[in-house]
Amino acid sequence: MKTDSFGEINSRWRKLLLDRFYIIAWVVFFTEAIIFFFDEWAGLLFLPIPLYLFRFLFLPSLLNFLAVGVASLLNQSDHYTEETKDFIVSLACFAVCACVELTHYVFAPVLCAPTIAIYISSIFGNHRTTRRLTLYSLITLMLATILAANELRAGDNQLYLDVAIAFVMILSAYGIATLMIKREQERTTSLSASYQKQLELSEQLNRDVLTGLYNRKAMFNMLRYEIRQMNTIHLAVLDIDDFKLVNDRFGHAKGDEVLLYIAKLFDSFVGKLGYPVRFGGEEFAIIFSNIEDETVIMVLEKIRMELSNHPFLLGDNSEKTYITLSCGVVKHHDSQSIDDFFKSADHAMYMAKNKGKNNVVFIQSNS
Ligand code: GH3
Ligand code: MG
Ligand code: MG
Repeated sequence: MKTDSFGEINSRWRKLLLDRFYIIAWVVFFTEAIIFFFDEWAGLLFLPIPLYLFRFLFLPSLLNFLAVGVASLLNQSDHYTEETKDFIVSLACFAVCACVELTHYVFAPVLCAPTIAIYISSIFGNHRTTRRLTLYSLITLMLATILAANELRAGDNQLYLDVAIAFVMILSAYGIATLMIKREQERTTSLSASYQKQLELSEQLNRDVLTGLYNRKAMFNMLRYEIRQMNTIHLAVLDIDDFKLVNDRFGHAKGDEVLLYIAKLFDSFVGKLGYPVRFGGEEFAIIFSNIEDETVIMVLEKIRMELSNHPFLLGDNSEKTYITLSCGVVKHHDSQSIDDFFKSADHAMYMAKNKGKNNVVFIQSNS
């Protein structure tokens, strides 16, 4: 299943919200129309019909659709950052709510309409946006109060009680929205931590426990990948010479020290040129991708020489032990299966053993 990035999720949600705002704008329009017909039927119209229609139906609806339309356009533009687009969409919602509030301030519940925008802004998980919308909500509440006190609710002391309630509702919305943002942030942090852990675990499945080099399973996966990519691949198989003697003489723990030293040697000499693997007890491989024959052989020779010249102090006394390895290397050719490829590298390694050990044998492709 394809999973969206955070940016893609936000972008999808912005679109979903804008679609919803369009529906809300239509709902507001039809509600206004119903109120108009009701007022006319009940003889409650306090303005001439054209003026009433302009002020309560057409102007607010025009502003609502304009706010949502402009937000939709800006949301599609490439000029704005994700954060700005999130803010624009939250602002469009606020514009619709504020429009309803400033048109119908006479009804106490609509003084709380902007709280919807505050809650919605929490979807984007940005404290700054939510803070801004809270501030704007307080400003429109103040404007609505001034309008109401000078117009339809002049002399109505109940207005101040309604405003106080709306004020508390706005602050409560802010408090809850910030908590929702925090919860989402905590969830995101915890999700990315467990994703990271999963990545580490799956990486560990590809690693050899003792040396940390890639293991046999990873080696075959990498070979499959490299062949699919049609890269030029060299595979080297390296086997420590007479390692059983080392173990027998100095013990398994000392043998492990030698294996660790060799693994480090591979890492430092191979670097970015290839992938060192431990696929068996004292058997290693190196996969080189898109590297010249000469460079591959040079690296392998350097490793062989460095190891053979390194004095290991494995016993109780200061006696020096020298350890060598035999290496076979082959280059992949088009029609060769992975098994055959590996077998031919192993075969080259045995040729190196048969030649007296401590050497590198390169078999040119016979394709
Ligand atoms: P050759 O030159 O023919 O490769 O001889 P060899 O002694 O290296 O090969 P052989 O296959 O006879 O022995 C391999 C030895 O590797 C046997 C075992 O004691 C040792 N070995 C395998 N895995 C480990 C390991 O994880 N740690 C240690 N210390 N030794 C290991
Ligand atoms: Mg060996
Ligand atoms: Mg062996």
